[in-house]
Amino acid sequence: MVIECKHVWDHLSGYLDSSLPADTRALVQKHLEHCEICSAILDSTRNILILTADDRVFEFPVGFSERLHARLNEEFHRDTGK
Ligand SMILES: [Zn+2]
Repeated sequence: MVIECKHVWDHLSGYLDSSLPADTRALVQKHLEHCEICSAILDSTRNILILTADDRVFEFPVGFSERLHARLNEEFHRDTGK
């Protein structure tokens, strides 16, 4: 089973906080190994989390997902030349 970039983006937060089921995590992991776009996104998402993470609370800022997805769509279309 192959998953698309869009699906990986949906799972990124779960991937980073290890809340994904093992099989989904494996699919995401596999995709990241060969997709430069998603690895780059994973890196920036991780950086954002480090910047916003509190010692005790781990959660995305309100609207973070929506903004991230909008940004990802822009990046994706630019990188694919559309
Ligand atoms: Zn991808």
